[in-house]
Amino acid sequence: MCGIFGYVTVRDECARIVVDSLRKLEYRGYDSWGVGIGLNGHIRVVKRAGRIPPISPDLPASSIAFGHTRWATHGGVTDANAHPHLDCTGRLAVIHNGIIENFRKLRAELESNGHRFASDTDSEVFAHLVEQVLHAGDDADPDAVVEAVRSAFARVEGLNAFILLHHCTQQLIAVKSISPLVIGAGKGGTYVASDAVALVGLADRVHYLGDDEVAAIRADGLHLYDRADGSERVPRWERLTLQPTDTSLEGFPHYLIKEIHEQPRVLERILREHPPRARELANLITRSYGTFLVGCGTAGYAALAGSYLFSRIARRHVNSVVASEFKYQEHFLTDRSLVIALSQSGETVDVIEAALAAKRRGARVAALVNVTGSTLDRLADFTIPLLAGPELSVLSTKAYTAKLALLLLTAHVINGSEHVGLDLLWRAIDGMVRALTPDSQDRVKAIADRIADHQHCFVIGRGLSYPTALEAALKIKEVSYLHAEGFAGGELKHGVIALVEPGVPCIVFSPLDETRADILSGAMELRSRGGWIIGVSPEHEAVFDAHLPVAEAGDASPLVNVVPAQLLGYYLAVRKGLDPDKPRNLAKSVTVK
Ligand code: GLU
Repeated sequence: MCGIFGYVTVRDECARIVVDSLRKLEYRGYDSWGVGIGLNGHIRVVKRAGRIPPISPDLPASSIAFGHTRWATHGGVTDANAHPHLDCTGRLAVIHNGIIENFRKLRAELESNGHRFASDTDSEVFAHLVEQVLHAGDDADPDAVVEAVRSAFARVEGLNAFILLHHCTQQLIAVKSISPLVIGAGKGGTYVASDAVALVGLADRVHYLGDDEVAAIRADGLHLYDRADGSERVPRWERLTLQPTDTSLEGFPHYLIKEIHEQPRVLERILREHPPRARELANLITRSYGTFLVGCGTAGYAALAGSYLFSRIARRHVNSVVASEFKYQEHFLTDRSLVIALSQSGETVDVIEAALAAKRRGARVAALVNVTGSTLDRLADFTIPLLAGPELSVLSTKAYTAKLALLLLTAHVINGSEHVGLDLLWRAIDGMVRALTPDSQDRVKAIADRIADHQHCFVIGRGLSYPTALEAALKIKEVSYLHAEGFAGGELKHGVIALVEPGVPCIVFSPLDETRADILSGAMELRSRGGWIIGVSPEHEAVFDAHLPVAEAGDASPLVNVVPAQLLGYYLAVRKGLDPDKPRNLAKSVTVK
């Protein structure tokens, strides 16, 4: 989602550095971009809907500039709605991540005070709010501008991050609530970004901005203030240890297929490095009175799979809740509860809100997260890093199977059968490798060719394969735009079957477990109504029109069986001429509600 980058230097820097840094944040997903450059007496704004062009636009040199990639929430994807937004006078500009929840009320008030708006966004409200409190004489006083930002921010509701560029006082002012901002200092100057990734190569030390702070970045460096009373504060600098992200495709045409292929390696790392952490998590679970797994999208399905795994392996009831719904169920929490928050990026705002709700009630928070140093990692009491490496495709694949591997292992630790868990993970690695051979991929490709022109596809599984069916359908629809719906196998006859017409592809997950007889009956019911059955199963069955053989992996079957579905999504997208790494409307880091 939204990417933010800004700098202040003593010498004139080419503003192209802003565009180059925004490119490092492109993986988060966005629909428009813009740059604001402080020039003599005015701010030059260049902003466009669409992707940053491969050849950077010509931008003037300046000692102060910032930029933004937008993922629209309020207002269409247009040039005017792209950030930055200016106030009425053009002396200040604002970029923003988040949603100003009370923007309607604020906008009405500002408009009635004579402010003119140039966009439909909620974000522009902040520029005019600051303008309203900034008196004419304050323009030369850097601290007065900080004061204005402090008091404007106090009126804004929601989880937001703002950077304001004020050209008379030559400073960037940063303020936030939950939404992350990191300040970097290096030889060349002082920087601010939504993600430390953008600071690699520029800054050698960083200060993660707190919600109780306001940062002013000036030519002489960072000035930090208390957000409540405006008093000066001392920054907590840490060394920036992040390495430049490995963005090489290693011979693969897209990140998605590269990351699908990396899964066996990720599992191997987890196997070798994480048993001690799985033991700690198991200990937290057994000591808690009520454990909740929370996640969104793919991580939400990993949470659901986790609840099945804990039930069947550890005989434990572990709840799974969609993170965005958690706040409506948080009443159960006590100081003896445990919330296990799952997130690839560690910035998913719904998951962070769930973790904060848990903390407010005194519960403990454990996180399974891929990005070290992310907001979730820092607010959790205990973190297990997923060790999946950077996931650059918008679709989550290796972070999903990494979460499943950790939950499976933890369930076995609770059951006192850690060695069985480790053994199962080795079986999963073997099964994944087999699912990724050229032959297996060709079989998936042939099915993609066959079903690409269909409008709908249904996916069913029971038990452990139910979350797999949901995740498989998500993978297919998010990348290929083929409408795929996942269901619990037993639910079909309660309504869904009305949609099955002759030729409609139906994917059936049928491992050799206790669900087999029932799921095959479900497949038969679909076939009787003309469904074209694609069986994902270790063994062929007469009811299958097409068969994707997978290795039998027992309770680790969700890790193996999801691979053909990930491949199917990928090959469908390729076949339809879509970009598998950047599906429309989606963002990698979902930092807004
Ligand atoms: N709500 C703002 C908008 O729609 C900011 C979105 C973002 O975080 O990119 O412009």
